[in-house]
Amino acid sequence: MKLNGTSSNTPSSSDLLNEGASYSGNPKNGHSRDCQCTDELVDEIGDAHGATSIDTPMRPDAFALDDDFKIDLIEEHFREIMNILGLDLTDDSLKGSPRRVAKMYVKEVFSGLNPANKPEPTLFDNKFGYNQMLVEKDITVQTYCEHHFVPILGKAHIAYISSGKVIGLSKLNRIVEYFSKRPQVQERLTVQIAEELKHVLETDDVAVIIDAKHLCVSTRGVRDLNSSTVTSSYSGKFEEEATRQELLRYVA
Ligand SMILES: [Zn+2]
Repeated sequence: MKLNGTSSNTPSSSDLLNEGASYSGNPKNGHSRDCQCTDELVDEIGDAHGATSIDTPMRPDAFALDDDFKIDLIEEHFREIMNILGLDLTDDSLKGSPRRVAKMYVKEVFSGLNPANKPEPTLFDNKFGYNQMLVEKDITVQTYCEHHFVPILGKAHIAYISSGKVIGLSKLNRIVEYFSKRPQVQERLTVQIAEELKHVLETDDVAVIIDAKHLCVSTRGVRDLNSSTVTSSYSGKFEEEATRQELLRYVA
């Protein structure tokens, strides 16, 4: 197995998987050994969609395995899931699915877990002295619900008031995309984007609004096809009513 870094006591894949089991609790049901969680409680937590922390909860050894090895392991385990479901993996249509899913997880839809994939912002001096808000609206959001591992699809509106620096417009899309390519809850995604913008733009005058449909709400559970979820983060001047109203007029 190939590892990133130079750890001398190289863990084997089974070490990591076993460690994973003890790290996150009982591997049989995925929650802590001492918790009295019932299936109903697990469903309720999934429906509540509250985040436990602003940071994506990650294992300390999240990047001990390189991407290719992660793909091999996920392929193996996803094949097992399909087997358990009773699917015939010798079928031409199905046999490539475990590998496809594994590559999609690591290289595409969850690639934003890896800080190495974080976009480098291009900043410019605010040469025009533009001191009004800049709004980038209807940015595509495609992320995955961390409770059900199905997509959350929608759009983000981002606004900021320059403190002297301006950012390339496409970088706003890239920042949304990076934090979206993780298992997420919408509240955390909103805050992570806002915090990154504040850091990059060196200002608190940032607003983020996300309006998205959760496929775990529309395709299972209550099966509501029409509802969408709106989350927002307003800070600095956007906490003032007039500034906020101006933004809301632009994105309406
Ligand atoms: Zn969900």
